[in-house]
Amino acid sequence: MFRSALRTAGFIGGPMVEGFEREFAEFTGTRDAIGVGSGTDALRFALIAAGVRPGDTVVTVPNTFIATVAAIAQAGARPDFVDIDERTYSMDPAKLQAYLTNDCMPAPQGPGVINRHTGSRVSAIVPVHLYGQMADMDPILELAKQHDLLVVEDACQAHGAEYFSAAAGQWCKAGTMSHAAAFSFYPGKNLGACGEAGAIVTNDDMVARKCRMLRDHGQSSKYFHDIEGYNGRLDAIQAGILSVKLRRLAEWNEQRRACARSYDELLGGDERVLCPFVPDWSRPVHHLYVVRVPDRGRVINQLAAAGIGTGIHYPIPVHLSGAYKSLGLGAGAFPIAERVSAEIVSLPMFPGLTIDDQRRVAGALFESLGHQAA
Ligand SMILES: *Cc1c(COP(=O)(O)O)cnc(C)c1O
Repeated sequence: MFRSALRTAGFIGGPMVEGFEREFAEFTGTRDAIGVGSGTDALRFALIAAGVRPGDTVVTVPNTFIATVAAIAQAGARPDFVDIDERTYSMDPAKLQAYLTNDCMPAPQGPGVINRHTGSRVSAIVPVHLYGQMADMDPILELAKQHDLLVVEDACQAHGAEYFSAAAGQWCKAGTMSHAAAFSFYPGKNLGACGEAGAIVTNDDMVARKCRMLRDHGQSSKYFHDIEGYNGRLDAIQAGILSVKLRRLAEWNEQRRACARSYDELLGGDERVLCPFVPDWSRPVHHLYVVRVPDRGRVINQLAAAGIGTGIHYPIPVHLSGAYKSLGLGAGAFPIAERVSAEIVSLPMFPGLTIDDQRRVAGALFESLGHQAA
């Protein structure tokens, strides 16, 4: 693979990229996949190609990786937020409905609705399939249909996750339920490259064609730049690595599921530890295993002292981060996301994590809780 890339000097694009695109489209069950430089590229290109225009508003959730929001802003749109469901940590469809009816009014013409406070047209929703579990897509898609909104899934943490759509009467894979979806192959993701990489998947030929142009300086064919684009292509060597690793993704996801079941059993009996909630409609791929605990700081320190690394995904809701101060959304704007962000901790989770390791994590976690006043 490396040799072929070196021999042909085909480092960017080319047959290895096309091969991976076919394989990844087949894995997700979409017509097309477009390899790009990162998950952030994928989100940005998907939003632009699906039809988000400069000055539009795009609605997402505050408890996501900052790139979700950066991609919205870089597509020229104004990011806005609705709060999350306290059990699933993903977009609360009831909050979305309240936003679309109370904070917006029908657009005099064209798609979407108009935000009453800003006068900006709300044109798209970005549900985030956080921690490897899909957002509650049926009601979100129903609201999108009612209000003529585009939907772009942030599937950057959800390669292979599934949602039972009562509307469709079947299990649907992440990336197949919207106009276009973005995946990241950042090394730590369920499918990770050995560097930066991402992909858009879509069933819409126009969206696919536009994404191919956007990633390649707006070219429709060599030196014919029909639109202004970006340098956002996928490297051949990364595509080759991803092709090889994709063959094992289903197996790795099963290993993550087994690890999640073990954690559920080890930790589920203690009311001080809130384990992830998996609704009947969800088959998650457990990108992360996130629990909520009292006095998180102490828990993290004691686990670290026992040699156990943890993470916080994410400690600062995006509306409170410095980059988006100008939106004017202060503390208290999204109380559930804010409360959750103060209590969550991500425990070790990766394929190959052993049950002995997990017992050690659980033991250290209980010990750290034991030192706390009840
Ligand atoms: C990783 C991630 C991204 C961005 O992907 P990159 O490949 O790092 O650009 C976007 N959204 C979510 C939810 C992510 O986890």
